[in-house]
This record gives sequence, C-alpha cells and structure tokens, in this order.
Amino acid sequence: MSWQQRIEQTLHHRQQQGLLRRRLAVSVSPHASLALGEQHFTHFSSNDYLGLSHHPAVIDAWCKGAQKWGTGAGASGHVTGYSPCHQLLEQTLAEWLGFPRAILLSSGFAANQALIFALAESSDTLIADKLMHASLQEAATLSPARYRRFPHNSLDGLARQLGATETKNRLVITEGVFSMDGDQAPLAAISEMCREHQAWLMVDDAHGVGVLGDEGRGSCAQQQIKPDILVVTFGKALGVSGAAILCSNAVAEYLEQSARHLIYSTALPAAQAEAVLTSIDIVRQQPEYRLKLAQNISDFRTLCLQQGIALTDSLTAIQPVIIGDNHRALAVAQSLQSAGYWVQAIRPPTVPVGSARLRITLSAAHSTEQIIGLVEALHHAL
Ligand SMILES: *Cc1c(COP(=O)(O)O)cnc(C)c1O
Repeated sequence: MSWQQRIEQTLHHRQQQGLLRRRLAVSVSPHASLALGEQHFTHFSSNDYLGLSHHPAVIDAWCKGAQKWGTGAGASGHVTGYSPCHQLLEQTLAEWLGFPRAILLSSGFAANQALIFALAESSDTLIADKLMHASLQEAATLSPARYRRFPHNSLDGLARQLGATETKNRLVITEGVFSMDGDQAPLAAISEMCREHQAWLMVDDAHGVGVLGDEGRGSCAQQQIKPDILVVTFGKALGVSGAAILCSNAVAEYLEQSARHLIYSTALPAAQAEAVLTSIDIVRQQPEYRLKLAQNISDFRTLCLQQGIALTDSLTAIQPVIIGDNHRALAVAQSLQSAGYWVQAIRPPTVPVGSARLRITLSAAHSTEQIIGLVEALHHAL
C-alpha cells in the first residue's frame, strides 16, 4: 500500500471509530477560564494543578529572566547553553528532592527517553507497569533491553516478573500518580521488592511533584521511599515546562556522557529555569495552594457522591469518570461544553479499549462555585 493510501485509510478508520484527534487553539487565562473563539468555559482539563502557570511571581521571574539571560539558551548545555541559573535550578532540585544530582531536560518525554536509551543495553531487563506513560513505553520498546510489563499496580505481577528474569541489571519503572486514572502506585511495597531482588527502581512523578508530600516533594516523599532514579516534570503542578532526572553522582555523570537528548538538544531557556525556581519556591513555602487543591478534590467527590455520580478511588487531582463507549464519552463531553465546562474525553489508545472516560482535573485555581456548577452539569449530562 502506498503512503498516500495508508494515510487516507488510517484517517478514515479513525474517523469511523470516533477516534480522530484534533488540536483546538484555545486561550487559557487565570481562574481556570478558557476561551475558544468567542465562547468561554470553566476549564477542568489542565495539569496546572496549583494554578501556577498564571502566578504573577512566576510570570515576573520569566520576564526578568529573559531580560537578564536572553530568550534562548543558544546552544546545548554541553556547548554554552548551561548557565549559573541552570546550575542553581539543578542544585535546588537536588536539595529539595533529596538526591545528589539533578539533570535538566527540555521535557518529561525527553527525560524518559534519554534515561532509558542511555541506561539500557541488550543484557538488561526493563520491568514496567502496564499503564506507564507513552514516553516510557516507547523508549522501552525501542531499547535493546528485554522489556516486560506487569498488570497495573500489581505487586504479585511485579514479583512474578522479578522472579522470572535472570539478567543482572533490572530496572523497575512506575509512576507516582497515573496520568489517566489518578491512582497512586504502592511505592513503599515496590521499593521493598526491588531491594529484595536487587533491582533498580525508577519513578516518574510527573503528576505527584509539587502536589503531594511535605513541601510538595511528591509521591516518593509521601510514601517515604528513595528510588534510584526519579523523573519530575515542570509542565504540570509547577506551571512551566521542562523536566529533570534526579539520581546519584555516577548516574548523572554517565548521562552527561551518553544521554543524546541532553547532548544534542538546545538547553531550556535560562529564563524558563528562573520561572521554575520561583514555582518551586512558592510550592515549598506556600502550602495554601496544596490545601486549596485538597479541599477542591474533597468537595468534588462529596458532591458527586450526593448526585450518585460514580467515581473511581482516585484521591488526587485527576478524577476520571469512566464512560466506556468512545462516542458516548465524546457526547457527554460535548454536553458539558454546552453548559460552559471544558472537560476532555480521553479515548483509546491513550486508555484501554472500552474505558473511554472524562478526565476531570481539579486545580487550586477553581472556586467552590465552579466545582458545584461542574457537578450539576455532569449530573445532567450523564
Ligand atoms: C506529562 C507526562 C510526561 C511528559 O512530560 P512533558 O514534560 O509533558 O514532556 C512524562 N511522564 C508522565 C507520567 C506524564 O504524565
């Protein structure tokens, strides 16, 4: 089949199944409001869990940073793109999260790929939760290492995989908070199991850092574990963009030698690093954002319970409402939109077939009235 035919057939097929994806140009502003052209909505589908993307101090840090450092880093960090500001952000992250070193990457996607491709050789085994983020699934599939998956959050499944693999180096990979379900990995038990089997543990805490644990240190701090490798991202609760790998001195130095996404890519702008530093400062010193988010999660769950709306067990900002059918999930999302609420319908292959859902995300930026309105609209739409 020619490329042209294959492309047309794929698009046709996706359209028929209600799976065609499109990006919409929307304008997001403070207080969780979103505009699509002339229409205005309250926004319940962002990962900006603390509302920091519009925080005046974070914006100011970015503007002043641009004046001081310029808009772009100008080169890879291995050439001249690494500034004292990048260095300070790495040191701050290492100190905050309790690791010897932090290495900055321009996105979480790049961080996961950089790490797996640098670390995994054909004699190694990667063992990951089945619901791991696409960036890790793809890296693990393409890496020369053996790749095994265990059922989502299953300790028995993980034990079986660890028992069945003989290779010397095994890396167990999971997430702190799962992005489409909002549930948390049993990190304490997983960490213990890794120790028993002498496997390394890597945790991707994209949705936990900034939100969970003392001073927002994330899922690992909350469950009192220290993985061998921690990936955090700045595009969610920290409200900016970029990511870091937290690790030992030796792993950091090894990544500096071999991580291609680090070496052959322009460093993130120093101004952006300034914004991230300010976000971290706010997260550490102002627990009121986390408390407001926790209150909003609790209000949302209580109101849904009163209305008989079935929720999952998630206790995090990610509150999925499982619908099942793709077309119905879209229809419910559209009905919410007509009522002025922007909620994303998530369909396969992002989630397993038959589990299309509304992925509702809550933020410290939501008012109680906005949450009450959403639950009422949800009650009518379902
Ligand atoms: C969002 C996300 C990433 C990707 O991070 P970006 O900085 O957006 O590229 C990686 N892992 C998980 C679990 C995520 O949710």
